[in-house]
Amino acid sequence: MTSPHYAFDALMDVTARPSIVFVKGDGAFLRDADGRRYLDFVQGWAVNCLGHSPPLVADALAHQARQLLTPSPAYYNAPSLELAAALVANSAFDEVYFTNSGAEANEGAIKLARKYGALHRGGAFEIITFDGAFHGRTLATMSACGKKAFEPLFEPKVPGFPKAQLNDIASVERLIGPNTVAVMLEPIQGEAGVWPATDQFLRELRALTAARGLLLIVDEIQTGMGRTGKLFGHEHAGIAPDIMTLGKGIGGGVPLAAVLATAAASCFEHGDQGSTFGGNPLMCAAGLVVLNHLAQPDVLAGIAATGRLLEGELQRLSARHGLGEVRGRGLLLALELGRPIGAAVVAEALRDGLLLNAPRPDSLRLMPALNVTREEINQMIAILDVVLTRLGAARCVA
Ligand SMILES: *Cc1c(COP(=O)(O)O)cnc(C)c1O
Repeated sequence: MTSPHYAFDALMDVTARPSIVFVKGDGAFLRDADGRRYLDFVQGWAVNCLGHSPPLVADALAHQARQLLTPSPAYYNAPSLELAAALVANSAFDEVYFTNSGAEANEGAIKLARKYGALHRGGAFEIITFDGAFHGRTLATMSACGKKAFEPLFEPKVPGFPKAQLNDIASVERLIGPNTVAVMLEPIQGEAGVWPATDQFLRELRALTAARGLLLIVDEIQTGMGRTGKLFGHEHAGIAPDIMTLGKGIGGGVPLAAVLATAAASCFEHGDQGSTFGGNPLMCAAGLVVLNHLAQPDVLAGIAATGRLLEGELQRLSARHGLGEVRGRGLLLALELGRPIGAAVVAEALRDGLLLNAPRPDSLRLMPALNVTREEINQMIAILDVVLTRLGAARCVA
């Protein structure tokens, strides 16, 4: 399982990684430098919505690479115009700004809200976010996170992000003051361990923010692009937010992200926002084929059905091994393990050729490609079954 031809020490050691080097991806599978094959239920952290190196995306990239890479963001290019129009046509928003990463999209949303506050709310700048929230790793987005481990890091943080509790509307109401301009949340808190905002809470939040003249920002970087069985997660609640951010799945595996806003909220003026690579034709060409594919109603219905299949299999597995609940929606699901064996399950599964993620010590998060097949789900469940039996037996011996 080691790849002796590679040295690892020239990369900054910012996270624990197994000493495997992946060299090839194909749909639900990865291959390492030693030729070993892995079934992937992480998929670049919910990035590869159509699996690894899907021909649709590879062909769009190859074609666009020969046409035009980057004319400069100071000029229009065709793929960004087409993708913006397609996003607007498929959502409740009117205008799009493209970025290169999710954190950068959230930075854009934060700046847009602060601009709105400066123009319309007497300089209000506070954005209410939530305990457990994850919005990225730039300084402002880390400040917006409700992740305990981030609290002592890189002080002082960017001010203006008071934290409320998810699914507790009174906790939001209590934080609203003269400086408040917006409320920002993930429809399902992904990094925190797949904790959904209820549809009821999202509707209450929309009503509250509308009544107080505040913007509602949904961070759909993980929940957007079909992940929950609808194109965007907030659609389940039937609400229309003011601002939405997209990332991860929008590029089908390449770095692309976006801020979408209604006409009323879209208030940047010349000079307020910009990015060298933002909206470059190469990434937007990939985004366009991904969106055109996902926006088909039968594709979304298929994702919802696959999600129910995976959920049912996880529930049966949980019952067999005496584990906890299955949470989430569509193909963003968590399995509660009931005890802190997440890291052990991930390590054992890796040995058996399965990539899994444990966002917390006592839970697994499953975020396969949106076109994952029944066979691949069965294969994942079979491996996980063996791993859990092994770990259960180990516990009995210990
Ligand atoms: C991954 C993620 C981000 C950050 O995106 P990056 O592309 O890593 O900057 C922000 N918000 C949510 C909800 C995410 O899942």
